[in-house]
Amino acid sequence: MREDGFLCKRCGHCCTELDGGYHFTADISEVGLWAEEAPHLLDWVVPIHFGPEPEFYDGWISPATGEEVTRCPWLRCYKHQRYKTKGAHCLIQNYKPSACKEYPRNILHALNTGCSGFDQLSEEAKQVEARKAFITELHELLTAKRLVEKYGPNPSDWIFA
Ligand code: SF4
Ligand code: SF4
Repeated sequence: MREDGFLCKRCGHCCTELDGGYHFTADISEVGLWAEEAPHLLDWVVPIHFGPEPEFYDGWISPATGEEVTRCPWLRCYKHQRYKTKGAHCLIQNYKPSACKEYPRNILHALNTGCSGFDQLSEEAKQVEARKAFITELHELLTAKRLVEKYGPNPSDWIFA
């Protein structure tokens, strides 16, 4: 279980119903790791260039059609006849995009997008987590606002400021 009480139910909702599950942008370091340890994933991403070198990669793009997929190619859904259970399994668990790894960001994100990963918490615990998540998000927003005011709207400039 995650520190904030999140426990994935492996229901597959985020992989099938949320666009961000199978449409994402990966950065160079993420794709660099795939190049070393899971090169088959490189066939499913397309580089995005703003200059001579790619800055990001767009995924998942079908190598057969060149189009964005309409279902994640690494998702397997199963139904256990004996125990009458069903669920979902990610074939690239250790290499799934950070968008998948980091979902849901917090309980507010989960509640707003239909994730049941906090359902096992009591109502009181959910309220505590929701308050903490709200304060963290507000803090991040205010920090970003201050940075924009100080260094301008382009985050890549902040590094050199
Ligand atoms: S929707 Fe939530 S509980 Fe279901 S698979 Fe995704 S993260 Fe896990
Ligand atoms: S990569 Fe894995 S976790 Fe991400 S959408 Fe596909 S099956 Fe789900």
